[in-house]
Amino acid sequence: MTSLQEMMRTIRRAVRAAIAARASRGKPVPRAVRHAGSVRMVRNTSKKRVMRTHPDDEPIAMELQEWHRKFNDERFDGALDPIAIRVSRGMRSRLGHYAPAQRGAPAEIAISQRHVKKHGFAQGLQTLLHEMIHQWQDESRLPLGHGADFREKALNVGITARASRAVD
Ligand SMILES: [Zn+2]
Repeated sequence: MTSLQEMMRTIRRAVRAAIAARASRGKPVPRAVRHAGSVRMVRNTSKKRVMRTHPDDEPIAMELQEWHRKFNDERFDGALDPIAIRVSRGMRSRLGHYAPAQRGAPAEIAISQRHVKKHGFAQGLQTLLHEMIHQWQDESRLPLGHGADFREKALNVGITARASRAVD
C-alpha cells in the first residue's frame, strides 16, 4: 500500500535525521538506531501474513469457517483441505479472494466484510463457494480462473450466476 510505503519512508527519514543530528554533535550513535536507519520496506508477502480478521468480525469468520466444512462435505465430496478464512475490512470493490500458499504463508480465503454487511450472509456464502472453487482449482493443480472447468464446477456446487461473476 502506498500509505505504508510513505509511512516507512517518513520513519526512515526521521531516523536518519536523528542519527545525523546526533553524529554532528559528536555523540555516539547506538547500534539499534543505526540498524533502524537501514530498515527496508516490508514485502507484500509479509504484509499478507500479518493481516487478521478484526475482532468484531470473528463471529462471521467462525460461521464462514463452519460453512466451509459443510460445503466441503456436501458439495466437494470432502476433497478440499481445511483452510483459514479471514474477513477483510480492506476490500472495497472485491467480494472475496482465494490466495494460494506462497513463501511460507498458508493459503487463505478472504471474504469482504463490506460485502457481507451490504448484501447479506447468504450472498457471502455464495462468494465463499466461488472462492472454494478456486481452492479446488489450486489443489487440483489447475490454473486459477473462470474458464470451462470453473463454470462446470460452479454448476456442480450450485453457485448462482451473480457469484460466478464475482471478481477473484
Ligand atoms: Zn473468481
